[in-house]
Amino acid sequence: FDDGPNPLTTPQVLTTLEQFHVTASFFLVGSRVPGNEALLQRMHADGDEIGNHSWSHPDFTTLTSQQMKDQINATQRAIMAAGVPPPILFRPPYGAVNASVEANVPMTILLWNEDPQDWAAQRASAVVQAVEASAAPGGIVDMHDIYHVTADALPQILTDLQARGFHFVTVSQLLHLTPASRGLYYGHS
Ligand code: ZN
Repeated sequence: FDDGPNPLTTPQVLTTLEQFHVTASFFLVGSRVPGNEALLQRMHADGDEIGNHSWSHPDFTTLTSQQMKDQINATQRAIMAAGVPPPILFRPPYGAVNASVEANVPMTILLWNEDPQDWAAQRASAVVQAVEASAAPGGIVDMHDIYHVTADALPQILTDLQARGFHFVTVSQLLHLTPASRGLYYGHS
């Protein structure tokens, strides 16, 4: 889940994950963390993974190396100030990566391989349909916990995919990542 935390929709997502005994990975925008520290503590207590999604969501391929470092470091500080461990994963805004981004981001860069485009959906049913149509073993599904349609779609998605035998893990668990892992990751096949 990208772009949170959102005080309206993230709690609903967390409640659903808790009810289904499922963990997920949240890539947070640093500027949205102050004031929402309790949500980060709840994620950590639930076993969810917390990653860095920049401070203000710029396209990193347009930034200087100093700007990239400032975006990363400010977000690490905000997350650690909430009392949870520092992220080891970075998800670049828009999935925008080039050689300069790879050289300047001192973290594992975590992309995705299933994109249901929940940000464009008008109804929860469209999110359910898109996620379920592309679900495959080893998949990393890119969703956004800032949208009501996504939060509303999640119980049906988990019900259906659990019935199909899917098991949900954090991305570090899926890819066996450690703090020393470097490079670009999209999913596991
Ligand atoms: Zn994003």
